[in-house]
Amino acid sequence: MHLLRRIAIRHRLIGSFVLLSLLPLIISGYISYVESSNAIKERMRIFSTEVVKQVSKNVRLQMARIEAESEPLVLSDRVQTAFAKCDSDNEMDQAAARADLTRVLLEYYGSFDFINQKYFLDKDNKIVDAQVFSELGSGIVHAVERAPNMRGRPYWGTYDDSVGQRSMVMLRRIYSKANNKLVGTLFLGIQPSHFSTIFDDVNLGSGTDIFVLDGMDGKVIVKRSEPATAGDGSVFELALLQEIKHSMPRAQPVGFVSYSGKSSDHYLAAYSRIPGTTWLVVSTIPFDKLTTEALSVRDKIVWIGLLCFLTSIALAAIIARSISSPLEKLVHTMRETKSGNYRNRMQPEGNDELTVLTQEFNEMANKIDRHNAQLEDRVNERTRDLAEANSKLKALSLTDGLTGIANRRHFDETLLSELNRAVRTQTPLALMMVDVDFFKDYNDFYGHQEGDACLRRVANLLQVHSRRASDLVARYGGEEFVLIAADTDVATALALAESIRTSLEAMQLPHERSPLGCVTISVGVVVVVPDEAQTPEMLGRMADKAMYRAKGQGRNQVVLAGRNVAA
Ligand code: GH3
Ligand code: MG
Ligand code: MG
Repeated sequence: MHLLRRIAIRHRLIGSFVLLSLLPLIISGYISYVESSNAIKERMRIFSTEVVKQVSKNVRLQMARIEAESEPLVLSDRVQTAFAKCDSDNEMDQAAARADLTRVLLEYYGSFDFINQKYFLDKDNKIVDAQVFSELGSGIVHAVERAPNMRGRPYWGTYDDSVGQRSMVMLRRIYSKANNKLVGTLFLGIQPSHFSTIFDDVNLGSGTDIFVLDGMDGKVIVKRSEPATAGDGSVFELALLQEIKHSMPRAQPVGFVSYSGKSSDHYLAAYSRIPGTTWLVVSTIPFDKLTTEALSVRDKIVWIGLLCFLTSIALAAIIARSISSPLEKLVHTMRETKSGNYRNRMQPEGNDELTVLTQEFNEMANKIDRHNAQLEDRVNERTRDLAEANSKLKALSLTDGLTGIANRRHFDETLLSELNRAVRTQTPLALMMVDVDFFKDYNDFYGHQEGDACLRRVANLLQVHSRRASDLVARYGGEEFVLIAADTDVATALALAESIRTSLEAMQLPHERSPLGCVTISVGVVVVVPDEAQTPEMLGRMADKAMYRAKGQGRNQVVLAGRNVAA
């Protein structure tokens, strides 16, 4: 289980398909191949054995007919008398009897064209026919001498004639009916083709052959009349003979053997002995021809197997894809989601577990997306709030709480930056120091609350007069105010200061304790085209000094700083 999980699902599926389709196929194919070859071999054994049995029976019947036909001849009075005369001392009689014997043979067997040799031999095994060549004669005599005495029963053997043709021979000893003594022999040479007609038409299938073999030396005696593959008159397959001899003693005169042929091809052979002879009817079958059927079955199985194999691979690939592809998509989408793309969704297809998984994932992603959006909204809101608070804080930090105009810190920052700018641009910079006259007394008389209100009015007035964007009015501390005016020359600065002073005076804010009767201010003005050495403190001190001079000269007036005054 654990091991299987190491293999990709796709490969597991393909593997299982291939195994499922191939295993039974290989097993059943192997079994059916073995079974069918065995069955075919067995069928062939029964069939061919039956055929050779029948053929041998028929051959035997033919032989019996020839035997039966010869019997009346040898027992006929004419033959018996002739043989008796052959033994007489009268040479005339003897010659006449021999001539008659030759004649009677011609008369009796003349119409049997399958009997190509027919001779009578006398009791000394001498051919009765005087016209037989001695060479041929000696062969016949030799054959007769070699044959065992079958005591009146015919003997069948083979005989190689002078041209090397092998014929079948039937020998029959002739006994005198009078005294039961051996008087001679009938020799019949029979054309093998006479027997081959028995099995000429027997066909066991392509490559098979059937013939009669001499069990003594393995020579083919009877073969098919048509051009046959085996049996060329010479020694046939010694290996076949060996096998037959090997199996004969322990088996019936009928059997089935296998052997390797001349070209080491494998053969099967059924044989049946022809009773009363050393001959065998043999049918041979090439083994590969026999197994052709089984091989074709095997080939068919292989082809079907291959087809099944390819089909199952294709099927497995399709099914595996149907599982792995949505899984891969899901993994891909999950990765995207992990890396922050919460908008990705999978299209749910089909109706399987993976669809459920996809739907669940989509739902989860929806939830995450919603939460994320809410979170983002909240963060944005908070960020906005914070920015607002910050700007408020900044404004507050730069604003004077009582009067609402810029505070001291704001003034310090602005003075420094305006001073630097004036140094760069070499333009005049004006600074005014404004102080409310007798304000301690105002406070004392009207109260602190009223003092604050008065300060707000003065601040407001200053604010109204600083119309340019670059101007800055600030509360310097207590009842002291400052005004910065960039790019402002002395005349303009003095005019502005004077305008502020007169405006306040014109307002006639009552001040009981002031000798002037109303609220007034003293203004110190300094205007410089600054150089690098100039500091804000220096400017502030100069304005202060000028303001104190205004106090000293009687208050409610504008005084320009004495030194470094711009033109
Ligand atoms: P001078 O004409 O020489 O300027 O006389 P003065 O009374 O104005 O002198 P000084 O500058 O010493 O007095 C400042 C007074 O301003 C002291 C204090 O009572 C008053 N004061 C300072 N800050 C505030 C404030 O925020 N509110 C109020 N109501 N009074 C303030
Ligand atoms: Mg003061
Ligand atoms: Mg004062």
